[in-house]
Amino acid sequence: MTFKFCPLCGSPMTPFMEDEFPREKCGKCGWIHYHNPRPTVSAIISRDEKILLCRRAAGPFAGKWDLPGGFMEEGESAEAGMRREMREELKVEIEIEKLIGVFGPSYYPFGGQDNYNIDIYYLVIPVGEPVAVDKSDVAEIGWFDPNNLPDMAFPSNVEAIKSWLKTSII
Ligand SMILES: [Zn+2]
Repeated sequence: MTFKFCPLCGSPMTPFMEDEFPREKCGKCGWIHYHNPRPTVSAIISRDEKILLCRRAAGPFAGKWDLPGGFMEEGESAEAGMRREMREELKVEIEIEKLIGVFGPSYYPFGGQDNYNIDIYYLVIPVGEPVAVDKSDVAEIGWFDPNNLPDMAFPSNVEAIKSWLKTSII
């Protein structure tokens, strides 16, 4: 993601390289835009040899499937973000069983910008029955054979599922 104009003062940004990495600096106030990835948290929820997936209602990759989860908020721990996302998307409290791993970068084009995410995955156990709460975010949820996945939005989801399958006995 690049900024042509400074989000703080509106002045033009000047691209430059630091080490091998592209950045932009504001010619007026000096603000520097570092192209850092954004962390997300997602969950593998397993039941009866299947896993829960969500069909994306909104872009990017609307119509494709992904694991439930989302972007972390400022000041939030990964586990707190995981619990919040499960409440928001599936209306359930959870027990966090273990960290599966960190995968990515995931390409996430949004608002005309190329963004990249770093994705944190937990194995979680829902307390209660997950339901799709916000249909503008999750069109529907479904249970799928983890060895026969539908059209997935993010390769890192598939990596996390494969990594979990190696160590699980479902
Ligand atoms: Zn500025």
